[in-house]
Amino acid sequence: QADIAMYWAKEKGRDNAQFFTPEMSNIVTKKFGFEKEINDALASEQFSLVFQPKVFMEKENILGLEALIRWNHPTKGLIPPADFIPMAEESNLISRIDEWVIDQALLQQKAWRDQGLRIVPIAVNLSGRHLVSDSLVPYISQKLIAYGIDGCLLEIEITEGVLLQDIQRCIEVMAELKELDIRISVDDFGTGYSSLSYLKRLPLDILKIDQSFVEECDRHIEDAKICETIIHLARSLELVIVAEGVETAPQADMLKSLGCEIFQGYYFHNPMISADIAKLLIADHVIG
Ligand code: C2E
Ligand code: MG
Ligand code: MG
Ligand code: MG
Repeated sequence: QADIAMYWAKEKGRDNAQFFTPEMSNIVTKKFGFEKEINDALASEQFSLVFQPKVFMEKENILGLEALIRWNHPTKGLIPPADFIPMAEESNLISRIDEWVIDQALLQQKAWRDQGLRIVPIAVNLSGRHLVSDSLVPYISQKLIAYGIDGCLLEIEITEGVLLQDIQRCIEVMAELKELDIRISVDDFGTGYSSLSYLKRLPLDILKIDQSFVEECDRHIEDAKICETIIHLARSLELVIVAEGVETAPQADMLKSLGCEIFQGYYFHNPMISADIAKLLIADHVIG
């Protein structure tokens, strides 16, 4: 043990081991500050949700929504999720954020239902840490009951990496989610370094083709081939396929020709505040 400590101390170019360096204290201060900021944000309604439609072939046919979090910071302005979700994932803060998102998404469903709007499922993004925690399923089922919302109106999006960390626990939690009728979607599919075996072991419903393959699928044959392969894989496993980040007509046309029918992306709709979604849900024609 002592040898290891000395090795690291030497590695760092120091004669004696320092247990609390200025840079460490910097990290701690930063973390502490971050935790306080997140707590403040939760307490004073700095977070909000926007919703991006998933469409069936055409812009008008809205099949579902994805809830995406926004942080409107009082001094720093709008902070994108990529700038705080990864840091929140390092601690339990992510569970509090994810629970807030679930609560708000279901509350929104209730509000739209009370307004007499057509209701479509809302997908929420969950971090792996929260997925495998004991509190997730009880939290969701309690909220579904409180708001009187069917589980089939909630979808969970998780990334591949999450599925590999603790597959046994994922199987357990997902079985419980299925019992509540909640659909499960694999986000950013194709970007994780994973074996595909989890696809047959987990009760998944949807694969979302990552935007990085969609981006150049109309220009590079390799990207088109990857999209095609993912679409075939999904079909043979009886999973629904969704293309994400579709920005142009040529991308959508290419994906359609490869057999994809459900799309999400700026070409169809941007993520929108709930009032704008409500207008769309009134206006669009009901399908299926
Ligand atoms: P994601 O779940 O893969 O979400 C898709 C992201 O792509 C969103 O970015 C969305 O605004 C963006 N997007 C949609 N259409 C297009 C398009 O046509 N082109 C391009 N370039 N981008 C498009 P956003 O909202 O910044 O979220 C980024 C990531 O942050 C999400 O990726 C998700 O991993 C995470 N995230 C967002 N909201 C939440 C949340 O409530 N909880 C958790 N745990 N993570 C979240
Ligand atoms: Mg997502
Ligand atoms: Mg994604
Ligand atoms: Mg992503």
